[in-house]
Parts: sequence; structure tokens; C-alpha cells
Amino acid sequence: MENKRRKFIHQTGLLVASTGILPNILWSANRTQNKKLGIALVGLGYYSTDLLAPALQLTEHCELRGIVTGSPEKIPVWQEKYGIADKNIYDYSEMGKIADNPDIDVIYIVLPPSMHAEYTIKAANTGKHVWCEKPMAPSVAECEAMIKACNDNKVKLSIGYRCQHDPNIQAYMKAAKEKTFGAVKMVSSSAGYFDGRTDHWKQKKALGGGVMGDMGVYAIQGARLATGEEPISVLAQTFTTRPEIYSEVEETAMYQLEFPSGARAACQSSFGIPMNYLNINYEKGWIKMSPHSEYIGNKGVRSDGKIIDFPLENQQAKQMDDDALSIMNNTDMLVPGEEGLRDIRVVEAVYKSAKNNTLVKI
Ligand code: NAD
Repeated sequence: MENKRRKFIHQTGLLVASTGILPNILWSANRTQNKKLGIALVGLGYYSTDLLAPALQLTEHCELRGIVTGSPEKIPVWQEKYGIADKNIYDYSEMGKIADNPDIDVIYIVLPPSMHAEYTIKAANTGKHVWCEKPMAPSVAECEAMIKACNDNKVKLSIGYRCQHDPNIQAYMKAAKEKTFGAVKMVSSSAGYFDGRTDHWKQKKALGGGVMGDMGVYAIQGARLATGEEPISVLAQTFTTRPEIYSEVEETAMYQLEFPSGARAACQSSFGIPMNYLNINYEKGWIKMSPHSEYIGNKGVRSDGKIIDFPLENQQAKQMDDDALSIMNNTDMLVPGEEGLRDIRVVEAVYKSAKNNTLVKI
């Protein structure tokens, strides 16, 4: 291996010496092979602890180098587990100081949704690239402000829609694009689980709770990605099966989306009912995905007998490596801020429709 590396350096050295220029291919090989991006996780709750930090250990192009936390007791645990240097540990109030830290290339916001806009904008102002968890933010206005802050600072913004990096989800997106079975006629898209917690941000309006920003965006994504279109109208109802817990926000939502081609989607999202499937009916066939938005194991069957079951070691690792490569190679992010914003437009329309009990045009 070392011999091969020396030979490569020797050969490229000769090439550089003979031409006097550093070829692009060498530049990008150097960037992608030898340099990993330093990631700082902001918010060390369930998703950072159980999914993102372990997944970062499996990435090729990322390294967990920093943490931003308001819980000092978590610091020694994370340092012991991931060898994070003292100088790369911050309190929320000190986040601006990351601007001067060359170890950190990307700040990943993994906080309750109501905090996404504030911390994404703070992160963008440090000049570092930003990854932000879904839902992008509770309102369209906040999403637009986040996109603007990243553009103004010339940094990239990506939303943590891990499923779009999954080859199984990409398989049905491709069927829409290539019209494998003709036009999409009807979609049924469901995402829900039973959340037994009683005092969590998911149940608090001020923190961005409610099922629509959470499991809702998976059901919306299922419908939008299956059709490859943006909905033009929404008819929705929201309700709860546990009013004692879901007093401020909805536990469950059912909503119908209409698309420009005439395709329709029936969507359901719930914190009370476990469900995870996507049925796509086309002019000349169908695809059934079950599950369609899990961390691993999304798979499907098609009316032509083909199976959708691509291997994937770790969805979050794939997402973060894809996003790291987009930064290193300066290409478009697979899931930019604009994609997060599209879903929040639909979420706002769902709330408006449910509140006024009427069809809402988008
Ligand atoms: P969590 O409640 O487990 O963690 C939230 C973290 O934010 C905690 O460390 C908490 O201390 C911190 N925090 C800071 N200020 C807070 C405040 N005022 N109130 C509450 N917490 C505060 O939540 P989570 O499940 O880790 O979710 C975090 C984000 O990740 C959310 O946007 C969520 O939608 C997203 N998420 C995404 C996926 C996915 O599959 N992409 C899965 C789970 C969560």
C-alpha cells in the first residue's frame, strides 16, 4: 500500500514537474482521499447519540471532531468515546467561535425544530458549511431565512433527509422520472410510530412539535418523490387519539395532495399509530414499498415482478459521505435547503386546511 502511494506521489510529481500545472484530477484525488471533513454535532440527544455519531465512525470522508452542547455532563462521555479534543467543545452560547477553528468544516444542527433556524443561521455566519436535521424549520419564513444566510455566507446547506441517499428510495424516484409504468395516478403514503413519551418537544408547540414536522415530512416526501411533482392543493384533517398528551399539537394527520398532472396522494402521519408504507399506482403498474422511510431495510415489489432491495450498510453514513463529497468537489447538495422548504410549504398548507376545514391551494 505504502509502495503504491509512493509510486503515485512520484509519478504525479513527475507529471507536475513536466507540465508545471497541478491537474484537476490530482487536486480532487488529493482532496477526497487524504482529507476528511471535520464535523461538529450541535445537540447531543437521541439522534446524535444513537445514530449520527456511530454512523460518522463508518464514513469515509467525515470525522466527528466537535460537539456543541448545553449539558456539561455529556462532555466526558463523548470525549472518552470519540476522542474529541478540548478545543473542539462548545456551549451553545459560544458557537460563533467555531469560525476560528480549522478542525471544523461542517456544523450539523440536531436540535428541536424550533431551534433549527436560529442555529443554522449562527452556523452559517461562522463560514462553515451547515447540515440541518428535518424538519427544516416550523415555518416557510424561517426556511427562507436559513437559505439566505447560507447563500450570503457562501456556504452549503443540506437537510438531513437520509432516505434520499438510500438506493431503494432512489429506485422509485427513478421510476417516476423515467415513467417506467407510465404516469402516476394515485399514491398512498404513510409514516407513523407509537411515541410513548409524555413530556417531549414533539408534544410542545413552542419547540416545533406536532406530527406534521416529524413523521409528516416522511409521508410528504413519499408522495413528492413518487410523483416527482410539487402538490398544488391540500385537504387535511388533524386529530389526536390521546388528548391528555397531545393538547398543544396534533398527534395524527390525514391529508390529500393534488399534483399538477392530476395524480393524487392520500397521506397519513401519526405519533400514535405505527405505519410505514408507500403504494404507488401508475397507469400501467404499481410499486409497493414497505417500509419506505426506515433507517435500514426499505424495500419494495413492482408489478413486473422485480424486487427493490439494494444493499445499504448505513443510511446516515451514506448521507454524510454524499454530502461531504458535494462539499469537497463543490457540487450541488443532493438535498439542499430548497428541498426542506418545499415540504414546509406543504406542512403550512396542511395546518391551514385542517384549521379552516377547507381545500388550500399551494
Ligand atoms: P432529542 O430530544 O433526543 O434531543 C434534542 C437535543 O436538543 C437534546 O440534546 C437537548 O438537550 C437539546 N436541546 C437544547 N435546547 C433544548 C430545548 N430548549 N428543549 C429541548 N431540547 C433542547 O431529539 P432528537 O430525537 O435527537 O431530535 C433532534 C432533531 O433530529 C430533530 O430535528 C428531529 O426531527 C431530528 N431527527 C431526525 C431523524 C432522522 O431520521 N433524520 C431521527 C430522529 C430525530
